[in-house]
Amino acid sequence: MTFTEIINSFKTKLNPSKFMYSLEKEAIFYSESENSTEENNSGENLKSNPSFNSGDNSVNNSNAEKISRNKEVPLIKLTNVWKLYQMGEVEFAALKGINLEIYEGEFLVILGPSGSGKSTMMNLLGCLDIPSKGTVYLNSKDISKLDESELAIIRGQMIGFIFQSFNLLPTLNTEENVLLPLEFQEEDRQIARRKASYLLEIVGLSEKKKNLPSQLSGGQRQRVAIARSLAVNPPIILADEPTGNLDSKTGDYILDFLDGLNKREGKTIIIVTHDLELVKYATRVVYIRDGEIEKIEKQTRNEPGTEIESNLN
Ligand code: ADP
Ligand code: MG
Repeated sequence: MTFTEIINSFKTKLNPSKFMYSLEKEAIFYSESENSTEENNSGENLKSNPSFNSGDNSVNNSNAEKISRNKEVPLIKLTNVWKLYQMGEVEFAALKGINLEIYEGEFLVILGPSGSGKSTMMNLLGCLDIPSKGTVYLNSKDISKLDESELAIIRGQMIGFIFQSFNLLPTLNTEENVLLPLEFQEEDRQIARRKASYLLEIVGLSEKKKNLPSQLSGGQRQRVAIARSLAVNPPIILADEPTGNLDSKTGDYILDFLDGLNKREGKTIIIVTHDLELVKYATRVVYIRDGEIEKIEKQTRNEPGTEIESNLN
């Protein structure tokens, strides 16, 4: 399928709830005047200091979901959240009464072994699913009260998703994969292309625009996925095992990049993982096991590689 055919088929057939993020939102985006012609891009090394213009200019769309600037109000709040899966006659509780508040600017690592409920939690945090019991508030809105199209819109405005398996469309090249979310909310292909160029530049893939996913390394694919997740400049980045399919060096690049987005751009980063290594990036670590929060540890922000000081909460 060509890019246009894919876009058209999504526009006509797509059930947004089945897609990894909504594509039908208004953009929150960085300034059009953003300089995207910076030189010396190796095309290979991920820039660890993303230079988004996320100042006042960036949040310039009047239709965009405004995130609460009141740091006292959680960006995401889970109250006694249960997720039950029906297994024939038996109900399986993947999450059992989760209470969690996530604030703007946090770098939250949700750590737990396989099967502990991490992906289930990520689906709820990302409004891809609603709880069986309990309440999920995103930006003070109870998401279970929203219908699917409202959910898709709020998701699209607020959250960029990064998946372990990258979720790139195999028949689209690098540039087209990044253009995809933009295509759904941009009239102007030229502007979308400029944004895609800029995003590919900051993830160091300017030279791979025309490559298909199959022609990229794992790390490069993950960088395409990151560029795509950033396309609408969401305030929250949600990542499920973002380094799971990468070698440790590439994984470090990815994490340093997310770290930069958090520190320099104030983006809220939420990572679910079983990888203890990622704990060093977190401002808070939520340990989950068998669908329950075991403990939450606050951390003073560390530069990677330094000792972690943690205090039990
Ligand atoms: P993690 O991401 O931590 O590995 P998941 O959230 O994927 O864990 O799954 C948590 C538990 O819920 C696991 O025991 C898994 O088998 C179960 N589970 C997940 N999705 C479903 C489903 N759709 N139906 C039934 N059980 C499920
Ligand atoms: Mg999982």
